[in-house]
Amino acid sequence: MLITRRRSKTGMSRRTFLSLSTASALMARGAQAQSPTNPDVVIVGAGAAGIAAAHELRAQGISYVHIEASDHVGGRAYTETSTFGVPYDHGAHWVQNGARNPYFKRAQDSSHRFYKAPEEYLVLAGDQVATDAEETQLWTSYDDVARAIGTAGRGGQDVAPSTVIPMDNAWSETAAFLIGPWEMGKEMDNFSCLDWWNSADSVDYYCDAGYGRLVAERAAGLPVTLNTPATTIRWGGPGIEVETPNGTIRAKAVIVTVSTAILAEESIAFEPALPVDKQESFFAIEMGDYNHIAMMFDADIFNLGQDGYVVHQVKDSHEAFGALTNASGSGLAYCDVGGEFAQELEGAGEDVAIDFVLGVLRNAIGSDVDKHFKGGAMTTWRLNPLTRGCYASAAPGAYKMRPVLRAPVADRVFFAGEACHQDMWATVGGADLSGRDTAREVVKTLG
Ligand SMILES: Cc1cc2nc3c(=O)[nH]c(=O)nc-3n(C[C@H](O)[C@H](O)[C@H](O)COP(=O)(O)OP(=O)(O)OC[C@H]3O[C@@H](n4cnc5c(N)ncnc54)[C@H](O)[C@@H]3O)c2cc1C
Repeated sequence: MLITRRRSKTGMSRRTFLSLSTASALMARGAQAQSPTNPDVVIVGAGAAGIAAAHELRAQGISYVHIEASDHVGGRAYTETSTFGVPYDHGAHWVQNGARNPYFKRAQDSSHRFYKAPEEYLVLAGDQVATDAEETQLWTSYDDVARAIGTAGRGGQDVAPSTVIPMDNAWSETAAFLIGPWEMGKEMDNFSCLDWWNSADSVDYYCDAGYGRLVAERAAGLPVTLNTPATTIRWGGPGIEVETPNGTIRAKAVIVTVSTAILAEESIAFEPALPVDKQESFFAIEMGDYNHIAMMFDADIFNLGQDGYVVHQVKDSHEAFGALTNASGSGLAYCDVGGEFAQELEGAGEDVAIDFVLGVLRNAIGSDVDKHFKGGAMTTWRLNPLTRGCYASAAPGAYKMRPVLRAPVADRVFFAGEACHQDMWATVGGADLSGRDTAREVVKTLG
């Protein structure tokens, strides 16, 4: 759930901080508007980054073909209403980074309700609600953990948080969960203090129609050819060739916006092979794991009103979730798991995941939980062959690979996406800005 927005970099209290004969065949499969037959650029992927790149190329009068492997736009920002009858964000839900995020203004200008996220917490300790003293201890521990990571990062230490954080009280594990699995989608030994330190702070907002809806609306009218995966990108000649099951597209340059895990597992073959350090960067800026276990309740069993948070104490186990309850008053609770436990639950299945959440809630809140529970669903972003995880961050020691990931190859293979943004990585806003900036670089390079 990315609580980057609430973490402390200052040590203040937690609440204050923190070719084209085939082109026509391609279009027949889902193009919403006309794609050119001899494009200058091919954009691979229609998530936030690809959509932003398309807008920029269009604004600058550069022709492009835009292909997307799945049957919808949005990628990791996707809202649907069929599961629960209310907007359900499978991926991004928090509109982060305040006005730096281009979606902030777009949401303000939209017809949707857009509002600042409240920060009301219910903290559970075993079979009861935590006392004030316990809650204070949690937030003090959180500040201590965040400060230790921030101090190491500010000092240039490209090391894992597990080597610097204090684990000295009954709430340390919970604090570590909030910053590790819940924010970064990774365990504390799996990301870099330096990378964490160099990420943007955030103020969060919600859009009642869903974040994915905003992204889909941004794509309206753009010619995206759906159900068309890039399988091979050839860049050895003067231009590029993008091979798809529906034919080969030739252009001067390609913008690749797929996740680093998709690049690492070579879902798209590059011919000739990309430089070794480039390939290494796909593994170094690695994807984490974060999933929603979405639970629908027909009453406010948490007594938090709209958009409250529930956190439960973690003890001697990594089995934990953090929840956003009653999202925009819809009754839907996003009970989110991260890191290794998220991967384990993907393997165990949706029913096990739902039972786990119900068990924790039942224990502390009682039978109201079962009485008002109407159904649940779980996302599986690691199993998804088009993402293989949630969002990326540098492994310990790998911060130096961020610019390598961003760099174009041979002035014709360009990379964009959340992982390519300097400090707003792991977010929709970062993906959007990366797509826009990369498109500008392409225009400059093409002259
Ligand atoms: C559970 C979860 C919660 C999150 N929460 C937040 C949040 O609250 N706020 C926030 O700002 N961010 C959040 N994020 C992160 C955010 O969703 C991503 O950073 C952002 O959406 C990534 O956009 P992108 O364009 O870089 O990549 P993607 O959205 O992954 O777009 C890449 C596109 O490429 C397509 N593709 C893959 N392979 C191919 C191929 N071979 N050929 C053609 N197309 C291909 C994919 O289908 C996809 O549509 C969350 C992510 C997850 C998973």
